[in-house]
Amino acid sequence: MATLGNPQNTIAILKKYNFNFQKKFGQNFLIDTRVLEKIVHTAGITKHDFVLEIGPGIGTMTQYLCECARAVTAVEIDKNLIPILADTLSAYENVEIMHDDILKVDINSLIREKNQGKPVKVVANLPYYITTPIIMGLFESHVLIDSITIMVQKEVAERMQAGPGSKDYGALSLAVQYYARPEITANVPPNCFMPRPNVGSAVIRLTRHKETPVQISDEKLMFALIRASFNQRRKTLVNGLNNAAGIPYTKQQTAEALEKMGLPSNVRGETLTLQQFAQLSELLLNNS
Ligand code: SAM
Repeated sequence: MATLGNPQNTIAILKKYNFNFQKKFGQNFLIDTRVLEKIVHTAGITKHDFVLEIGPGIGTMTQYLCECARAVTAVEIDKNLIPILADTLSAYENVEIMHDDILKVDINSLIREKNQGKPVKVVANLPYYITTPIIMGLFESHVLIDSITIMVQKEVAERMQAGPGSKDYGALSLAVQYYARPEITANVPPNCFMPRPNVGSAVIRLTRHKETPVQISDEKLMFALIRASFNQRRKTLVNGLNNAAGIPYTKQQTAEALEKMGLPSNVRGETLTLQQFAQLSELLLNNS
């Protein structure tokens, strides 16, 4: 089987199987070898690694992963791609294809089975519409992860990296940075894909923290405060939390906590750092 990753070989495979792209699955296949090499290099994969690939498509990146890793499991939702993958990956014995929706896979038991519970590397060129649920699902379920190297929409990658004061800063920035260190390693233009997406893309590596940068008693509360602050970005933090469903604190309790932190009562949530959200959630928890 010829290596994929260039337009001619990709077109040949698509024709051979009479494949129709499915928009609902966010199918934009990579056709640029330099980008593929960059992703695999960013992920830092070695022969010791077990790699979980999400959405292998016709197996273009999977071929690269099989060359570098000890073992690869690739989860693909589109049943029409399964016979194609059997063909394009027939030369590799270290790959397993699962026909499933990644959001429904029990990744913890997959890792226990395939990698004896050791941390895995996740690599994906993600369908953009489910980027956030996939990443948050991986982090929040406390799956043992070493790093996640993903291609995402450029704006989403920038949001993951943003800090207070930037217009891109939001709940996704804080959630990602609580669990991992984000680093954008490449910007990828639309002409590297078939069909071309309407937006620019970026490769970002999220390296899981060994220990979270803040220690908190109630993660759920902190993330509820974060979501409430950014849902009503233009409101002050005190009003934002007061209007939010599921947050049981009065305006006065929030204002008192802010005062203890040395912050004015009219501060907006978008100016707070992760450390300050952690401090606020501890103060509210302990003083209510
Ligand atoms: N990795 C390939 C590449 O780089 O050329 C394909 C990337 S394409 C952007 C996204 C892939 O994810 C498609 O093959 C699509 O069918 C698959 N996909 C979409 N939603 C999925 C889901 N929920 N679970 C698993 N795979 C999914």
